[in-house]
Amino acid sequence: MADRPVVVVARPVPAAGLDLLRERFEVRIGLDEVGGAAAIVADPTVPVGPELLDAAGPSLKVVANFAVGYDNVDLDACRERGVLVTNTPDVLTNATAELAVTLMLAAARRLGEAERIVRRGAWSGWAPEQLLGRELAGATVGIVGLGRIGSRVAALLRGFGCRVIHASRSGGDLPLADLVAESDFVTLHAPLSDQTRHLVNADLLARFKPGSILVNTARGGLVDTRALVTALREGPLAAAGLDVYESEPQVPPELVELENVVLAPHIGSATRTARDGMARLAAENVVAILEGGQSLTPVG
Ligand code: NAP
Repeated sequence: MADRPVVVVARPVPAAGLDLLRERFEVRIGLDEVGGAAAIVADPTVPVGPELLDAAGPSLKVVANFAVGYDNVDLDACRERGVLVTNTPDVLTNATAELAVTLMLAAARRLGEAERIVRRGAWSGWAPEQLLGRELAGATVGIVGLGRIGSRVAALLRGFGCRVIHASRSGGDLPLADLVAESDFVTLHAPLSDQTRHLVNADLLARFKPGSILVNTARGGLVDTRALVTALREGPLAAAGLDVYESEPQVPPELVELENVVLAPHIGSATRTARDGMARLAAENVVAILEGGQSLTPVG
């Protein structure tokens, strides 16, 4: 079986994909043995640039990213070497949208702060004015990036009785600066790129509606963390819900210290359904390219 194409999987993905790969290819786990690989299954923690691509060598045909975002992949470097890149859209859309709504609710209802009070034994009983939050019903929610996930968030929010508005690169209901001024909640669903890095900076944060809530389940780089900390300490933000950070897995201590931030460890797609779907789609892309030359979900 030594002549089967080699597929290097950066870290074990669910069996739904791994088994499919093992039926057809020699599968190696870990990037140490990337030399001679025909395919690499990467993920958001794996920087795919000239170094990794050259370590794999000319046999490499595909980088299948186990994620819908592909900001970890140097598309130019792949193109120059004739390497196709794929991602895993759609299969994680609902899971990520549900986490965005979870963070909206958790931040609005001060759930992290409330849980910490209970856990440290500081709860003295029900009180009329204790831990008052705000409701989603009747709120205006501004969606930045009405793509697959943003659209699903919009659909979920209809059930909560929200007014939903959106801003996009290619238009939207209103410009971003106006959207944040009108929104009680702003939720980010744009990809990280040179155009979106620090899209939410000090200037934009100054335009947010006083008392509003920012949720980021897209990529940490969309937000200038230092400006965010200031906006949470001094206003205009009342709270934030974050799943992603600028230098993962580091979470700045200034954020950890704040009571009005709900912090999740990049779990947007972390459901059995989504991760199995991602593994299957990443594997199917590898099979489609290595056996048929065509990708199912190409990027770049
Ligand atoms: P998508 O369908 O491509 O949607 C992205 C949307 O962003 C598009 O509608 C695009 O619209 C918009 N956009 C691009 N540049 C923009 C800008 N400068 N300003 C405003 N909008 C902009 O992607 P998706 O599947 O919804 O995924 C979105 C992102 O979520 C991914 O790139 C990934 O980074 C992140 N994600 C995170 C997790 C997690 O675990 N937390 C899980 C899944 C995905 P136009 O092109 O029309 O402007």
